[in-house]
Amino acid sequence: MEEAKLIIIGSGPAGYTAAIYAARAKLNPILFEGFYSGPAGGQLMTTTEVENFPGFPIGISGPELVDNFRKQAERFDTKIFTQDVDSVDLSVYPFIVNVKDKKYAADAIIIATGASANRLDIPGARDGEFWQKGVTACAVCDGAAPIFRNRPLFVIGGGDSAIEEASFLTKFGSKVYLVHRRDKLRASKIMQDRAFHNPKIEILWDSEVSNVEGDTVVRSVTIKNVNTGKEIKHEAGGLFFAIGHTPNTAFLNNQVELHPNGYIKVIEGTTLTSVKGVFAAGDVQDHVYRQAITAAGTGCMAALEAEKWLVEKGYTA
Ligand SMILES: Cc1cc2nc3c(=O)[nH]c(=O)nc-3n(C[C@H](O)[C@H](O)[C@H](O)COP(=O)(O)OP(=O)(O)OC[C@H]3O[C@@H](n4cnc5c(N)ncnc54)[C@H](O)[C@@H]3O)c2cc1C
Repeated sequence: MEEAKLIIIGSGPAGYTAAIYAARAKLNPILFEGFYSGPAGGQLMTTTEVENFPGFPIGISGPELVDNFRKQAERFDTKIFTQDVDSVDLSVYPFIVNVKDKKYAADAIIIATGASANRLDIPGARDGEFWQKGVTACAVCDGAAPIFRNRPLFVIGGGDSAIEEASFLTKFGSKVYLVHRRDKLRASKIMQDRAFHNPKIEILWDSEVSNVEGDTVVRSVTIKNVNTGKEIKHEAGGLFFAIGHTPNTAFLNNQVELHPNGYIKVIEGTTLTSVKGVFAAGDVQDHVYRQAITAAGTGCMAALEAEKWLVEKGYTA
């Protein structure tokens, strides 16, 4: 069995930042960046332009930013494997990390497996169609892009975050349509009021998007009334999924405490989970901000806290 002081599970800004800090602290981290679990490198691999990560005044493409994170982690001798962690055993110490048919023993673990934005399987909205060509799942990240400016925008969802995203998009779109399957919103009363009183938001009740059309980018969406089956094509500049995220925690098999919404519980203001020696960073423990910079920030915190834990256990570099 291979032994490691620190194993980082998951890639993306949180995992790579944790690796940079841990490697510089001579913890010789091993990082599993995933393979089937999502694009190795994380959610930023699926986006074009990142304009809000500090240090890149003219923006940078998501994959290029991830490549930079990765190279920086490798520069300080992080061992990176493009593999998924299948399961962990946190009932023993050192912890056991299972990867295919190989077992690793780890003195500390950082979980940075992120979350996946939920999407619906709509013709035209899939990968290779208009996904990332007007169809996206992050208004805060993508809303300011020129293709959405002064165009009608469509948001799918009915919860607080859907209204948050729709309100945000009114700064850019000519009008924002909230497409909701039911005749009532799930959102809190205060958020509903915000939507009802915003003259740029219109709610399309009992409706779903049945098709997305365009040329090089989205030009229209077809809206279907779920009661009558009637379909109407609307001019559109963009379609935003706002139907929640699923944190990637299945491989943990409930061995760390989770919030009811599935995100990992950490002690507030730290990355400490319910299991001593196991830390969580990035979107897997953050259902509020979910940004690259916040993920990187908590990745740094997790590495520093893991180092402190190892020192307390008697480890010396
Ligand atoms: C389309 C889109 C555009 C975005 N644009 C921006 C933007 O412009 N600016 C911004 O700040 N944020 C943006 N975000 C949000 C940002 O991408 C996330 O907040 C950030 O990537 C979260 O980082 P993370 O490190 O927590 O993990 P993630 O990026 O979620 O990556 C985690 C990765 O870990 C790996 N993994 C999962 N399970 C396992 C396992 N069992 N074993 C090994 N590896 C595993 C997978 O490869 C997974 O992809 C965008 C998100 C999306 C979806």
